[in-house]
Amino acid sequence: MQPILLVTGGSRGIGRATAIAAARQGYQVVVNYHHNADAAAEVVQAIKAQNGHAVAMGADVSSESDVVAMFARIDQELGAIDVLINNAGVVGLRDSVINMDAARLTRMFAVNITGSFLCAREAIKRMSTDLGGKGGRIVNVSSVASKHGAPGEYVDYAASKGAIDTMTLGLAKEVATQGIRVNAVRPGLVYTDIHAASGEPGRADRIRPQIPMQRVGNPEEVAAAILWLASTESSYSTGAVLDVAGGR
Ligand code: NAP
Repeated sequence: MQPILLVTGGSRGIGRATAIAAARQGYQVVVNYHHNADAAAEVVQAIKAQNGHAVAMGADVSSESDVVAMFARIDQELGAIDVLINNAGVVGLRDSVINMDAARLTRMFAVNITGSFLCAREAIKRMSTDLGGKGGRIVNVSSVASKHGAPGEYVDYAASKGAIDTMTLGLAKEVATQGIRVNAVRPGLVYTDIHAASGEPGRADRIRPQIPMQRVGNPEEVAAAILWLASTESSYSTGAVLDVAGGR
């Protein structure tokens, strides 16, 4: 049986690269998306073109009912999940905290934090050896913004990723005896659409001089780290947060 891997936000960017690389490694891949069904369908097509297995599933990770329904669909169509990649994430427009209203903060924390918790909860229900599962791996996608704070850009986003780092540490310890490993990857600047969503499509190249390696990363380089943490190669790692950031 091929192991089952769910990547949230698998339609674009780092999630897309992770979905395609995971299928190449033999996973059956669930490509979650929110709005962009066409992009998710393109990822599924790309995986099928390389003789892999993939299915697209729309769900807003910040919606409890959407998440519960998506995991039920995975149970029915594929079986028990082996790997969860908590990748879906959003940024708001570049701004200062003084201008951030409750609507912006609520959306930010709902997608980036609550979404990761809800998906982890549903995954653990199925993976936990205490509950009859066969174990599993969870990989959270954080950001080096959690270390730098993103002042004047998006402190709310950075704080949401700080929560992901802490969630990784606590949850890893909580489920360590249940056959589940929980780790995180903390990307630096990576070429994806997310920078345009902050209102500055050229952001990555503007900040490039601050990166010790003097270059921006590619989604495939982050995907490789995510899939290492999802693999048996990292069998003694849990609660780890791995920077993939060119030294930043
Ligand atoms: P991206 O290119 O903007 O793609 C975001 C993905 O998340 C899309 O697939 C999108 O789906 C999905 N998504 C957004 N909101 C969602 C929701 N509520 N429910 C389900 N899916 C949702 O972003 P990216 O740069 O690849 O970022 C992926 C992760 O890496 C994020 O957690 C981000 O914070 C983190 N990260 C990125 C960078 C970077 O420089 N790119 C650096 C550090 C960390 P649709 O296609 O349907 O919209």
